[in-house]
Amino acid sequence: MFKTHLLISLLLGLFTFQFFEINKFIFIALVILAGSLPDIDIPSSKIGKKTRPVSNIINFLFGHRGILHSIFIPVLLFFVLSYYNLYEYGYAVLIGYLGHLLADAISSEGVNFLHPFLKLRIQGFIRVGGFLEYILFMLLIGLGILSIPRLF
Ligand SMILES: [Zn+2]
Repeated sequence: MFKTHLLISLLLGLFTFQFFEINKFIFIALVILAGSLPDIDIPSSKIGKKTRPVSNIINFLFGHRGILHSIFIPVLLFFVLSYYNLYEYGYAVLIGYLGHLLADAISSEGVNFLHPFLKLRIQGFIRVGGFLEYILFMLLIGLGILSIPRLF
């Protein structure tokens, strides 16, 4: 799933950077970083392994696909960055983070966007690591290759 998330973030960055005034590479890098952030709540994920002690604590406290997979965290990050007049960075974080949540929402595990306060669980039919994810991944690679010229 990490690679699928990475590609989705990259594509989101490639299709939105022109609306913002910060350097496009910084913008896309931020979208990608924010797009991998939610899975810090699984110690076995790519980002979880790199941040082991922190990831273990977050997983212990909040579980996987808990508060870190709610819309509250990206909205909070956006407001914090906006407060410091870093709107453009805030939008990059918002786009990457929400992109991750939406991608998780099409998986069969689903996501509760309003966890832990209310239930707005959205669930798809794509099994993580399954055949449909593979097909999606291949489509995203194709779209990614076709989108590279947008950078220049
Ligand atoms: Zn996730």
